[in-house]
Amino acid sequence: MGRILVLDELTANKIAAGEVVERPASIVKELIENSIDAGSSRIEISVTDGGLTSLVVSDNGTGMDTTDAGLAFERHATSKIKNAGDLDHIQSLGFRGEALPSIAAVSRLNLKTRIKEAVSGTEVVIEGGQILTTADIGSPVGTIVEVNDLFFNTPARKKHMKGPNNEAGHVSDIVNKIAMGYPHISFQLKSNGRVILKTPGKGDLLECIAGVYGIEAAREMLLVEAQKSENSISGYVGKPSLSRAARNHQIIYINGRYVRNRGIAEAVEKAYHSMLMVGRHPVFVLNIRVNPETVDVNVHPAKTEVRIAKAGEIESFVTSAVSQTLAGNRLIPAPVYKPVPKQGLGGPTVKQEEWQVPYISTASEEQIRELPESSEYVPELSGASTGTGILADSIPREAGEQPCFPELRPIGQIDCTYIVAQGSDGMYLIDQHAAHERILYEKYMEKPDDFVASEQLLFSVALQLTFQETQVLNDHIINLTDLGFVVEHFGGETFLLRGVPAAAAKIGGREIFLDLLDYFSRNRHTISSKALREKLLITMACKSAIKANHNLGLPEMESLLGQLSKARNPFTCPHGRPTLIHFSGYDLEKRFKRVL
Ligand code: ADP
Ligand code: MG
Repeated sequence: MGRILVLDELTANKIAAGEVVERPASIVKELIENSIDAGSSRIEISVTDGGLTSLVVSDNGTGMDTTDAGLAFERHATSKIKNAGDLDHIQSLGFRGEALPSIAAVSRLNLKTRIKEAVSGTEVVIEGGQILTTADIGSPVGTIVEVNDLFFNTPARKKHMKGPNNEAGHVSDIVNKIAMGYPHISFQLKSNGRVILKTPGKGDLLECIAGVYGIEAAREMLLVEAQKSENSISGYVGKPSLSRAARNHQIIYINGRYVRNRGIAEAVEKAYHSMLMVGRHPVFVLNIRVNPETVDVNVHPAKTEVRIAKAGEIESFVTSAVSQTLAGNRLIPAPVYKPVPKQGLGGPTVKQEEWQVPYISTASEEQIRELPESSEYVPELSGASTGTGILADSIPREAGEQPCFPELRPIGQIDCTYIVAQGSDGMYLIDQHAAHERILYEKYMEKPDDFVASEQLLFSVALQLTFQETQVLNDHIINLTDLGFVVEHFGGETFLLRGVPAAAAKIGGREIFLDLLDYFSRNRHTISSKALREKLLITMACKSAIKANHNLGLPEMESLLGQLSKARNPFTCPHGRPTLIHFSGYDLEKRFKRVL
């Protein structure tokens, strides 16, 4: 160990840049936040090669005078707070005075700025953190920051950059997220000269959402508005039908700042309880306002996380506000029960008509009746799924071996979700969705080629993607074609889905297609085409399977249990969750204290 040295400012800035400036998108974020803090009503962003070659952010805000334009590049130089006490009630997005010096330390930067009181503006040229020139120039009121040759002097960081498409995707993602937080500001984003986002800046959040997620999605959004003492919430939540496989479309602002906050996201999801399938996540854009003194914004260098003093209180406020919106829109399926006809118990005499199906989920009754009467499984799976359920472990079956599945007689349903059945050795509860999922999955895996084969849609489906999704689509078009999707570029970020894998044709391939895009954007490593295919079949089984909260007649239950009994691995769903649980006669006797 050598002697301890105090680092010079340039080195300190380069180190800080490591935290603040992860990639072009993080620079764009910092620069936009500065423009917002400067009171701009119009912010334009333009990136070349995803920002790796150049990125420009210009605004019509207050601008800076010549002195401030130079000071702005000094470490911890900020106009936004004066002392540590101010940290307790931050109203601005910036306050660390770190962004400009950090960005300047790892790029060639050019700043032009003018305040409205001055006749001319100031230009500062800076390279690797060193000011080369400061000059008077003609310039409009506001600020233009141009960042060129990012990471030219930090090759290690430069190596970590993904391709320009990927970086452009990240830029577009962050601009979308900030833009929806400021409907009063008009945002424009250009990538390689093409406009990929434009918000009108008229103050209408729904219009912004339409600009980002498309009009179709905006139509499926419901208004949330509530206030309780100091706290308020406003914004939009997606109908359950708009749910996604990833949480990327969940946007939260706390006091105007876009943040990631697990607690609040979960509080919103809680309001959707039982309306969404496992693994599905709602889409939402929510502005939450709380007393600034209860929020600590200084917990993360990029300021994307905050700590809320009374988190629990805010979270339950959020859950109840979103629940009210969802309930007010009658989205919760209310099953209608009819009394079970006595003579029908277990017997074949119950006619289908006597059972009322309260609402039609995507898995219609037809699909259940459509199940083959008997299926001669000739399984070719090679341990495709490994059960982790209670019974699965004990039953590793060979091809053609008779399953030791109990003989079950259905008695009825609990919560329209679980089938109660009598076996020779006690009571069984069967998760109807998991069971049907297993049946369909095995059916698909038996002849995967048939079910993945592309089927042309009668009416092609228009998809309005985000710019980032378009990048993912371009990167994975071969995979998607391989899986039976036929996609045609329509213009801009709009695509036409013309064909889908056969098993998805009935349920509409849209949701499955979007799921795959989500999956690809989360898993950037390559995955074998066989594994991908299996993933698709699992997803299709899940989507086509009868849902929870779905009323079933006894014949349907019988058919379902009959099918399950013939499955090769009947005890778990393809995700490894149990399809059934067992209470033996002894268990029941113990519970009732008939035996000790
Ligand atoms: P912070 O935003 O945390 O204060 P920055 O390094 O991002 O730190 O910016 C330093 C200062 O430069 C800001 O406090 C502000 O006074 C000034 N500044 C930066 N960008 C702009 C802009 N677009 N318009 C006006 N002033 C700006
Ligand atoms: Mg800043």
